[in-house]
Amino acid sequence: MDFDNENRIISPDLNEIDNDIEVSLRPKTFNEYIGQEKAKENLKVYIEAAKSRGDVLDHILLYGPPGLGKTTLAGIIANEMGVQMRVTSGPAIEKQGDLAALLTNLNEGDVLFIDEIHRLSRQVEEVLYPAMEDNALDIIIGKGPSARSIRLDLPRFTLVGATTRSGQISAPLRDRFGDIERLEMYSPDELAQIVRRSAGILGVMIDPDGALEIASRSRGTPRIANRLLKRSRDFADVMGNGAITSDIAKIALSRMEIDELGLDSIDRLLLTSMIKNYNGGPVGLDTIAATIGEEAITVEDVVEPYLLQIGFLAKTPRGRVATPLAYKHLGIPFNGGNDNGQQRFDL
Ligand code: ADP
Repeated sequence: MDFDNENRIISPDLNEIDNDIEVSLRPKTFNEYIGQEKAKENLKVYIEAAKSRGDVLDHILLYGPPGLGKTTLAGIIANEMGVQMRVTSGPAIEKQGDLAALLTNLNEGDVLFIDEIHRLSRQVEEVLYPAMEDNALDIIIGKGPSARSIRLDLPRFTLVGATTRSGQISAPLRDRFGDIERLEMYSPDELAQIVRRSAGILGVMIDPDGALEIASRSRGTPRIANRLLKRSRDFADVMGNGAITSDIAKIALSRMEIDELGLDSIDRLLLTSMIKNYNGGPVGLDTIAATIGEEAITVEDVVEPYLLQIGFLAKTPRGRVATPLAYKHLGIPFNGGNDNGQQRFDL
């Protein structure tokens, strides 16, 4: 089966539908940024301390699945520090010169935000090390035996890196961050607050039950919550009086084939294939991905995190295993699974 993740309604990746609302809904201060209390508290302390010393904020690495608010948090950090933010991403910086150009254009104290920082090439990373450590840019002039290196001073800056895969960041790069914050999936209550806030900005009427209905099916992810809100508004306009009630939200979500836990047809296909074809696993990532016609990286980054979070999927050294909870949710009797998988449940 061919499946276009760009158009998956509950894909946490940014798509065209979001672009127009994403900017207006993005919180600009810590007060507007709901949840992530631990990261917020830490960052507030570091920001206050840096400001009181008149210092530049230390480099920060944010990690967590897509759509949880990493870019938003970077913007808030810059805002609270009273500096500008430059935004780029790992794959966009192809050559050392691209990064050198970005760095030399920064103003003192600026935040440089690099999304998907785990995708920087080794050569580009090498330019980043002295920049992060000594605010210096080493340039090689000439070639062969006559080549020499000169060092340029850079403005002091704060690098905020974001990644969905902290494990893929090289150790030397990770070591150069003063602070590493892991963003967690949001609770339904927190997402309901986000939905109500977004509805207020978009001028959409929504009652608390409607907000909670959307929130509890948003896979712990604000970007998905905002997208489901926008789609539910269409149903409210056409099928109701414009207000999103719990009933309207339920109709909208079931039309979008999103079940009460936020699983869509791809999640169900993945779990059912594992159960039907591999007796629940263990089965390797590449095999499952091929079975459902999807790329392994998409399955790992986009589909799996939530299934792992809600305990429907487990990772074992021998591969992925569908848990009894997944069987129950899909209404398939649990037959004990394979021996390998079963042992895992006894641990
Ligand atoms: P990421 O960079 O992790 O992929 P973003 O920062 O782009 O995620 O967040 C996606 C959208 O979700 C933002 O536009 C914002 O509207 C919303 N959002 C994210 N985190 C929060 C939050 N804590 N409170 C309110 N809205 C949020």
